[in-house]
Amino acid sequence: MNVQFFMPTKVIMGKDCIAANAGELAALGKKALIVTGRNSAKANGSLADVIAALSANGQKFEIFDKVMSNPTIDCVYDGAKAARDAGADFIVAIGGGSPMDAAKGIALLARQDIPREELFSGKYPNDVLPMAFVPTTAGTGSEVTPYSILTNDKLQTKTSIASPLIFPKIAFLDAKYTEGLSKATAINTAIDALSHSVEGMLSTRANRLTDCLAAESIEGIFSCMDSLKTGKLSFEEREMLLYSSMLGGMVIAHTGTTAVHSMGYSLTYFRDIDHGRANGLLLGDFLKLVEKTFPAKVSEIVSFGGLSSAEEFKARLSDLLGEKESFAHDELEKYADIAVNAKNVKNGIVVPTKEEILSIYQNSLME
Ligand SMILES: [Zn+2]
Repeated sequence: MNVQFFMPTKVIMGKDCIAANAGELAALGKKALIVTGRNSAKANGSLADVIAALSANGQKFEIFDKVMSNPTIDCVYDGAKAARDAGADFIVAIGGGSPMDAAKGIALLARQDIPREELFSGKYPNDVLPMAFVPTTAGTGSEVTPYSILTNDKLQTKTSIASPLIFPKIAFLDAKYTEGLSKATAINTAIDALSHSVEGMLSTRANRLTDCLAAESIEGIFSCMDSLKTGKLSFEEREMLLYSSMLGGMVIAHTGTTAVHSMGYSLTYFRDIDHGRANGLLLGDFLKLVEKTFPAKVSEIVSFGGLSSAEEFKARLSDLLGEKESFAHDELEKYADIAVNAKNVKNGIVVPTKEEILSIYQNSLME
């Protein structure tokens, strides 16, 4: 049995965990740059909790709240400048995937100038600001991954900085911050997490330990499906989703994502469809393709959701996602051209051809 596992992030989960563990932040530095989006961290109480903890420790801070959804490369260079100008020696990221992913790029660039053409090279000096992460959605799992996923206008898709250097030092998981999420955001982010765990199990880099985490995550997310549909999640269910999304992050930290994410990026880049929703629209048909070659694997995966086939899995997700956007045939051809060249397509136990990618798009989006 071959197993490798590396998870250097300390995870602290529980209601009011930031206040109860404020001392954990004290070790990170003297002055924080708090990286966040425009509004949500203020509205859901997470920013106030972080500021109270820093103040209790006698730590200074400045706030960089200019992270947009699907952050750009410019955004991380701007954030890195803000960190330097502030004299920050650590980062606290608060928010969904966008602020968390931007924060990792900022932490790296704050310590050294990396030319834009080398930003995605994977070769970085061994120097990064330490980071604490506070996820406020239950989806990306970015708090436990070594990835910073940025919008790359040059390639018209998303590209990732991937390096063990950018694992956060600490992740604080408090489900109370997810209580104000809209029903659509709760669904889309949960499906992103589901997609991470399912794709992780379909990766050539999966091992017994990552499968174990993925299974727990898929089960946890499916246990909340009915409440996601009605929009009435209990606090325990919100905790289960946050926990499951963190597990999904640990999975893809090892396995990477597969064709589903590569294909979904075009739906986000060209049509502004939410990242999790984009994956959810495509995941069922990718599973159907894999089922042809690996029926036992797919049967195992869907069984964690109490289902017996990829078709049933697709129907369950379609029900949750509601009415689909409409697409033209040549649009999908363009997306297939982009996706077939994406790095993560080759991660899967089934590597789809361009024709197969196009038919997944068509079956998912034009049916
Ligand atoms: Zn994702």
